[in-house]
Amino acid sequence: MDNRRAFLKKSGLLIAASTVSFPQLLFARPEKKLGVALVGLGYYSRDLLAPALQLTEHCELRGIVTGTPDKIPVWQAKYGIVDKNVYNYENMHEIAENDDIDVVYIVLPNALHKKYTIIAANAGKHVWCEKPMAPTVKDCEEMIAACKKNKVQLTIGYRMQHEPVTQKIISMAGTKPYGMIQKLKAEAGFYNSGGDGTHWKLHKELAGGAMFDMGVYPLNAVRYTTQMEPLSVSARIENSRPELFKADETTFFDLEFPGGILANCKTSFAENMNHLKVDCQSGWYELKPFQSYSGVAGKTSDGQIVSPFRGNQQARQMDDDALAIKQGKAPLVPGEEGLKDIRIVEAIFESSNKGSKRILL
Ligand code: NAD
Repeated sequence: MDNRRAFLKKSGLLIAASTVSFPQLLFARPEKKLGVALVGLGYYSRDLLAPALQLTEHCELRGIVTGTPDKIPVWQAKYGIVDKNVYNYENMHEIAENDDIDVVYIVLPNALHKKYTIIAANAGKHVWCEKPMAPTVKDCEEMIAACKKNKVQLTIGYRMQHEPVTQKIISMAGTKPYGMIQKLKAEAGFYNSGGDGTHWKLHKELAGGAMFDMGVYPLNAVRYTTQMEPLSVSARIENSRPELFKADETTFFDLEFPGGILANCKTSFAENMNHLKVDCQSGWYELKPFQSYSGVAGKTSDGQIVSPFRGNQQARQMDDDALAIKQGKAPLVPGEEGLKDIRIVEAIFESSNKGSKRILL
């Protein structure tokens, strides 16, 4: 730990991430890039996050944690990662002694998010954790508690909340250009062939399934679009390929919000869908697609077109989150936001199992 962090920790000036307001850190050095270590070098780390970290202004890729030794020379050669910044899952806690690393980004199967978030937090590192936060509310609460205890930030990788076109739609919950929202439709999915059936995303053990993988996008979208929390949920699961999909293949969930606002949501591994539509008293607006890596585009009932953002979503997300750490401010998407979705996901599975509406308290 460098002297500055040690001093801040000792003096109590390094403030826990999850509190609502963040006093400016007295000794913040805004010019310094934060060092990020990626944990799990699968698809999302390899194809999206590592390339995006070459574009960031406030953070950079400095470390990796992997259980696959073959990947190490490839990543070291491509990104200039030095030997002392390479870890495996058994020695990852030793990152505590490494001043090169400020942030540990968990990009693992969903059911492993809790374990490695807690290891990273106990090592005194800020944690970015991919969506969905974790399989259960209890897991999410333990992750938040570990980060609070260690006075580090915890941020969930909901990239859409950082995306400018999406942010315009979020702002319309306040400006209400077409009056009060009356109903919403949100659908996200893709055709997943299932391959040989072994990938963790097809199985319940590591919290695979369409709801955890893609369903959190429509769920999060109807929450950020309305800026409200749902009062109840009714859900139903369909599985047309039970020999392949051992977790949910298609999940329908209808949410009731205050004021009688209804949101019809769907997620699936059986069809391509990517649409958010918002019907209001005197018009409508939509994003199509609403959760792709690029090209998120808006349209309104009176013919306005919102052009897609041309930058890199993941770079913007990581820069926002790095800046929050450097400036000692609350992150845009804290652990508590991930927890809110998982509380509803639990209710979605319960409603589907029981075949009845579930009231959310
Ligand atoms: P992936 O299967 O491609 O990669 C997972 C990595 O975890 C692999 O490198 C694998 O070797 C490693 N791993 C470690 N322990 C494992 C175990 N016990 N079983 C299986 N793999 C293990 O998955 P991915 O698509 O990169 O997803 C990783 C995380 O990123 C998930 O939480 C996912 O939801 C999230 N994700 C987010 C986005 C986004 O747009 N925000 C996009 C894709 C994935």
